[in-house]
Amino acid sequence: PVAAAGGGQVVVAGAPLITATKIKVNVSMPEMAEKAAATGADGVGLLRAEHMILSIGEHPVKFIKEGKFDELVEKLADGIRTVAAAFYPRPVWYRTLDAPTNEFKEMPGGEDEPDERNPMLGWRGIRRSLDQVELLKAEFLAIKKVVEEGYTNVGVMLPLVGHPEQVRKAKEIALSVGLRPHKDVEWGIMVEVPAAALIIEDLIKEGIDFVSFGTNDLTQYTLAIDRDNDRIAHLYDETHPAVLKLIEHVIKVCKKYGVETSICGQAGSDPKMAKILVRLGIDSISANPDAVELIRKTVAQEEQKILLEAARKALE
Ligand code: PEP
Ligand code: MG
Repeated sequence: PVAAAGGGQVVVAGAPLITATKIKVNVSMPEMAEKAAATGADGVGLLRAEHMILSIGEHPVKFIKEGKFDELVEKLADGIRTVAAAFYPRPVWYRTLDAPTNEFKEMPGGEDEPDERNPMLGWRGIRRSLDQVELLKAEFLAIKKVVEEGYTNVGVMLPLVGHPEQVRKAKEIALSVGLRPHKDVEWGIMVEVPAAALIIEDLIKEGIDFVSFGTNDLTQYTLAIDRDNDRIAHLYDETHPAVLKLIEHVIKVCKKYGVETSICGQAGSDPKMAKILVRLGIDSISANPDAVELIRKTVAQEEQKILLEAARKALE
């Protein structure tokens, strides 16, 4: 049995397991929030919007066009509130909508979605949200509502960022509906496009509180390997030196500016990657609910190793 003791400390079978690196959890469906919170995780490093949006059962843009904007806000607020309440006061980072066109197309009312040759390189993430501002406004209004109810632990995370102006424009839209980045909510970006890693300093200067590595996409785009292509799946490796170099660079720059770093890609559930990230100085690791305990143990052991190595060195 795992019971939360707060502040990065969890009691496993009576023995306290304390980690300096926070261990968080990824949540895809609000219905799973209680179970995810019971892992004792230090927060939600990724709350996906896709399930909440898909569960309205109709293409969200059509939904809005039919005059059901307020209903969409309510539905989103219900989902966000469920997770924020289960984890309060632990932080919950809500990632704005990031469904590719081929997924939207499968929804009722999705027949107008464009046919893209390569949806993973296409109209998705923040670049799509900035073209469909009403949808993004509905997300921000839902967060505002939940925050005003007292769930001040909600943060906003922007996916697929590649340009500083995307951060700026998203902030303007948040402010236009009365949601104040940095004041009402923590404000962060995902690092999943190599360009974002390479210009991280410019993105930080736009004003961000945290970054989270979306290694599923960062690996795909860095190595030019379609993450859904089985034929080349054996070449897909989140620990490829090129991916790690980008991560190392981002952590270094973020430390300089006091920006929090995290990971929410699948690699965060892999002990091998967790050890590497701890040594690179990441602030938190967000894992799948069933991997939280293993990652916490792995991180605790690795941190202990680092301390012992430092102690031995000092004694020498
Ligand atoms: C990622 O890219 O690592 C990520 C968490 O986002 P998604 O898998 O939804 O693209
Ligand atoms: Mg991604």
